[in-house]
Amino acid sequence: MSDDTKSIHEFDMQLICEYFSSLERQGPGSPEVTLHALSFIDNLNDASRIADIGCGTGGQTMVLAQHAPGTITGIDLFPAFIDLFNANAAKLNLQDRVTGKVGSMDQLDFQPEELDLIWSEGAIYNIGFEKGVNEWRKFLKPGGYIAVTEASWFTDCRPAEIDDFWKDAYPEIDTIPAKMFQLQNAGYIPVAAFILPENCWTENFYELQNEAQRIFLEKHPENITAEELVANERHEAQLYDKYKEYYGYVFYIGKKTE
Ligand code: SAH
Repeated sequence: MSDDTKSIHEFDMQLICEYFSSLERQGPGSPEVTLHALSFIDNLNDASRIADIGCGTGGQTMVLAQHAPGTITGIDLFPAFIDLFNANAAKLNLQDRVTGKVGSMDQLDFQPEELDLIWSEGAIYNIGFEKGVNEWRKFLKPGGYIAVTEASWFTDCRPAEIDDFWKDAYPEIDTIPAKMFQLQNAGYIPVAAFILPENCWTENFYELQNEAQRIFLEKHPENITAEELVANERHEAQLYDKYKEYYGYVFYIGKKTE
């Protein structure tokens, strides 16, 4: 395997954290998309408990908090992201309703049926979509919602180059009907699925990385790992541009059946 097809998981965690800390978001998305997904959720009030799992520095969490009632707990594996998350909440005066905590999505310490809503943008792949929707379900009240984004194929067939890339990066990538089937099988009504528009990847994600990449490379001159990380991100952006009709992120919204 050549360097530019390395999976993101193979890079030094410290450098990955530093690189992504400089971005408002750590995955594709947009405030409009977060709000569109929120429009399908009809059970929230001031007493609601919401979890944002794999929250990163909280780009989407703050949008959610500004448009939904209740309290939100953001969970992320990386302390540096959680520090920025809590600083962002304080900056927006949301600290009474929004708290970031370090934790792992495969060992969540919520109580059974504690949550009204589980949110997760661009993160459930870390545990795997099918495992995530099944394991997290117990934390939701009956009638509670799950809303997650997940990389998905738009067609049954695709060119080998992009198929190989994803099979290496995330073998669980699948078609939208297959994911909906998994959601329903896990005990949710599949309320909605919609494809994130292209600008979630381009303007809101890859293009914002150009400046971050310049600063990052200047800060780490002649650091091969840093160079490889940036090359990897650029390669991903190029692949997206070339093959975007075949794949993208999809928001899946499910309601826990009674
Ligand atoms: N939701 C954010 C971040 C997406 S990037 C956004 O859309 O911008 C994926 C996030 O998952 C990263 O912040 C990463 O630190 C986090 N993550 C990876 N493995 C995790 C785990 N096991 N438990 C919790 N968070 C994890």
